[in-house]
Amino acid sequence: MTTAVYPGSFDPVHQGHLDIIERARQIFGRVVVGVLENPTKRYLFSADERVALLRASLGADSPVAVRSFQGLAVEFAAEEGASVIVRGLRAVSDLDNEFQMSLMNRRLNPAVHTVFLTTSFANVFLSSSLLKEVCAFGGRIDEMVPPPVAEALRERLATRAPAGR
Ligand code: ADP
Repeated sequence: MTTAVYPGSFDPVHQGHLDIIERARQIFGRVVVGVLENPTKRYLFSADERVALLRASLGADSPVAVRSFQGLAVEFAAEEGASVIVRGLRAVSDLDNEFQMSLMNRRLNPAVHTVFLTTSFANVFLSSSLLKEVCAFGGRIDEMVPPPVAEALRERLATRAPAGR
């Protein structure tokens, strides 16, 4: 059975991520989503909150595991007994960075292979950062994220909005 890890920030998870998770689940025997906790990065949601939102979005019956991790994705893969790192590819803009990262990861651990899944048409322009921006300005995000995430985003961004808005 091949285990795949799907590492990322997921700040927060959206339909583009869920689509990649579902397709990875159809391909690999076991999928573990890894929520990166990078101390140098500022997130809207804490690692625990991002894990909880992923779990709520996947549902209690999902066979997909979700854990947070710190450090290198190849080390997280090794800890989980995974031989595959899944990454989602949107457009050409993702390619440069992803290409570099996958080559570095192969150098760090040649036994771990990076597999890219291309996004579905509907999600090409979907990103967590754009979602946060749209939501902060009161735009409708409900079709782009699962209900628990829409609720959490509105709650978090409303409490952050300056008085009077
Ligand atoms: P990171 O900071 O690691 O890029 P993200 O949470 O933004 O974390 O993304 C995690 C993974 O999901 C990455 O492989 C990214 O390319 C992929 N991804 C992000 N948005 C989409 C999308 N709309 N469709 C498919 N894959 C996506």
